[in-house]
Amino acid sequence: MSTPREMFLEAVRGGIPTTVPVFPRDLTLGLDVTGMSTQGVFGPPYDPCASAAAILALQDVVGHDAVVGCIFGCMVTGFGVRLGIPEAGVPYPLDAPFREIASLDAASPDSVRDEMLTGMRESYRTVRSKREDLAVVMNLAGPVTNGGNLRNMELLLMDMASDPDTAHKVMRFSAESIISAMDYLGADLADALFLASATDNPDLIGDDMYAKYCIPALKEVCSEANNIGLPVIFHPHGRFDELSRSKILDATVRSGIDCYQFSEENDGLSVIGRINGRCSVMGGPDVTGVLLKGTRDEIISDTERFLNDFCDQPYIMSSSCSLHRGFPIGNLKLMTSAAHSFRR
Ligand SMILES: [Zn+2]
Repeated sequence: MSTPREMFLEAVRGGIPTTVPVFPRDLTLGLDVTGMSTQGVFGPPYDPCASAAAILALQDVVGHDAVVGCIFGCMVTGFGVRLGIPEAGVPYPLDAPFREIASLDAASPDSVRDEMLTGMRESYRTVRSKREDLAVVMNLAGPVTNGGNLRNMELLLMDMASDPDTAHKVMRFSAESIISAMDYLGADLADALFLASATDNPDLIGDDMYAKYCIPALKEVCSEANNIGLPVIFHPHGRFDELSRSKILDATVRSGIDCYQFSEENDGLSVIGRINGRCSVMGGPDVTGVLLKGTRDEIISDTERFLNDFCDQPYIMSSSCSLHRGFPIGNLKLMTSAAHSFRR
């Protein structure tokens, strides 16, 4: 019988295992199971033991097949920006490091490998060694999303509109820092790369800018991930299910990704029709709708709707977006058991 890790990787790479694997992208939620404060993990210094314990404690309760290898924040600390860390909340960057473009010229993408990332790497190592049967997914911000964190999103949008040289420079730096973090964190400790990409979003930046700035950086990251044997799961936000978006959906699939996770506003069936088997698909119940507020019956029936719709597809069940502290874990358990009891 296949392990959860084998099933997950089979599906990411385009296979159709008998059981649908589940990956609810758990970024800080595990801390609610261990009761650790967010500051307790992020310090500084970052506590890899508390991180790994929380990741594994949530998996013990929920039973999902793939986990993120650490409690995750945001990759700005290596560039001199601190995180705001609410006691029982989600860490957020207090500023963007490269509001002055001259400071980017003087910086190295490898500075992303700071003490926090060292702690995260240690957490990945612990999770990997304690549970070799689980898939370990490396969660990093996608190209424009990371670029926006580094430059400040409004400034990056202005660069894209009026100063393309600067925008390209920021995007190159963004891709290089993603690659540096990927090589450091996951080359030997993760099974796949997940690019969390809320602002790699054509609804926000427009189709032209998406094609001009997101796609080349995405290609660069995919090509490096490919070189070290890591499949890439890409999760842009925005509508990709409309006919008018076929061109950028095609460019996204052709960039070298292995799996596409659609965000909540998309009709999954339309997306899969347009992808037409060219990569695997991830998605599932809306984290801010049904999965958060639904009744038991609503959660089960929504989960089953996805399972039936994607029955003959390379498909991974997920929540529509990442999961953080405060989310009702019982609801996640309902989704996971409904997926695991479904047979193709
Ligand atoms: Zn999302």
